[in-house]
Formats: sequence, C-alpha cells, structure tokens
Amino acid sequence: MEGVPGISLSNVCKTYRTRGAEIVALEGMNLECPPGSFTALIGPSGCGKSTAMRIALGLEDHDAGEVRIAGQAPATATASGITGVAFQDAALLPWRSVARNVSLPLEVLGRDPQRYSHEIAKLIELVGLKGYENSLPGQLSGGMRQRVSIARSLITSPEVLFMDEPFGALDQIRRRQMNVELQRIWQETRSTALLVTHGIDEAVFLADYVVVMHANPGRVVEVIEVPFPRPRTEDLFSTHAFHELTDRIARVLHGN
Ligand code: ADP
Repeated sequence: MEGVPGISLSNVCKTYRTRGAEIVALEGMNLECPPGSFTALIGPSGCGKSTAMRIALGLEDHDAGEVRIAGQAPATATASGITGVAFQDAALLPWRSVARNVSLPLEVLGRDPQRYSHEIAKLIELVGLKGYENSLPGQLSGGMRQRVSIARSLITSPEVLFMDEPFGALDQIRRRQMNVELQRIWQETRSTALLVTHGIDEAVFLADYVVVMHANPGRVVEVIEVPFPRPRTEDLFSTHAFHELTDRIARVLHGN
C-alpha cells in the first residue's frame, strides 16, 4: 500500500505484572517506518526491543496506543503472511531439509508448498545456498543457517520483515559479510525492514534510520538518519564518516 507506513507504533504502552511487581516495558513508544525503509532498533538489554517486536507481530497484547503493520492490526498482518520474521538462533527444524525449512511459513498459512517450488528455489539462490536444498541444518555452518532463516522469512513475500538479532551468534567477520548480503537481499525484496540489534556498526551499515531506546521505562529517545548511499560496501565500516556516526549513536545510547 503506497504511502501507508510499513510499521507504525503510536504511544504504545506495556506493563508486565508479575507477583505483585510491575515492570513498565514500554512507555509511550513511537515508531514509524516508511514503506520500503530499513530501520534498526538499538538499546540496552531490557529496554523493550523484544516486547515491541512481539507486539508488532501480534504475539503479545499492548495496554495502550495503536499498532499498525502495513495498515493492518498486527495479528491480521501475521496471519495473512504480510509479515516475515527471522530470529537470532535461526530456529530451524533440524529434521527438515533447507528447502523444507524455507517452505514452512507457507504450510503454516495453509498454502501448498508444491505450488511455490519456483519461489523456494529462487530464494535459496538469492541467499547463496543453491546446491544445499536437500541438506539438513546440522550439515550447515552458523552463517548458512542464518541465510536459511532469512530465506524462510521472505518466502511469503512479506511487505514487512522483522529481524531480532539475526547475526548475534556470528563472529565479526561473518557478521559483516552477512550485513552486506542482507542489504543485497533486502534491496531486491523492497520490504519494510525492522532489525533489532546490539551492534551499532551493524545498525549504521544496514539502516536508513537508527532508533535508539533507553530502559526504565522503555522508550525511544532519538531517531538518527543514516545518510550513506547504497549499495554500501564493507569499506564503509572503516571510513571517518562511519565512525563519526557510530560515535554519535554511542553517546545517545549511553545518555551523554
Ligand atoms: P530487550 O529485548 O530490549 O532486552 P525486553 O522486551 O525483553 O527487552 O524486556 C523489557 C522489560 O520487560 C525487561 O525489564 C524484562 O525483564 C521485562 N519483561 C519482558 N518480558 C516479560 C514477561 N513475559 N514477564 C515479565 N516481565 C517481562
């Protein structure tokens, strides 16, 4: 839908109540991701990043405020395949081949994977795993498993793609390679992407906007636009302008 934000959270509040204690996970959170943009959400542990993502996926209710995913209620968007999601630990089913892991969201939506064999093959090629269609996750490296997870998140051609620390388990060299790969894949799909990350480098390399959150209560404190043209290459990581921006974000993150 042209013009409708891919992701929109307005004044979202969420308090957890456990055994008499109250934890304000989100207080008046605002986030608006223009269609086709890439946003990175960064903040200390416990600032509500995962809570915000679970709410946006319709996996959790919020107490107040409004959430829209491509103009729809979160649960509706997830149930209709508008939303794709990739998690940190890749979360692949170990007994299913690469191709059958990629096709899983189709089955969840009640679609026949046979009818999507062309799309499945194309996505596996897009993430650089052609030839591994029949391999099992246990036969792949960590980086390859993450690629499967990303292919799987894209199989429904989601308008909106959520990624929660997708490369958290990788070392820095592989992580940077995957950042370049992810940029290429995302540029081909043109989905609205939201990446939750702890890595300032990763956020700046990938995003159009870096959204910085603070904890207690969880809230957005600043949105920083990233001006670097695309496609960005690994050289960007060592430029002066890149370090200036990561330093600035580190200061916002640490509140000074
Ligand atoms: P982040 O992803 O930024 O680390 P979370 O969204 O996981 O933060 O958590 C935000 C706050 O809410 C934390 O203080 C956390 O302990 C609390 N929290 C998260 N989930 C629950 C839950 N199911 N029950 C109680 N408290 C929770």
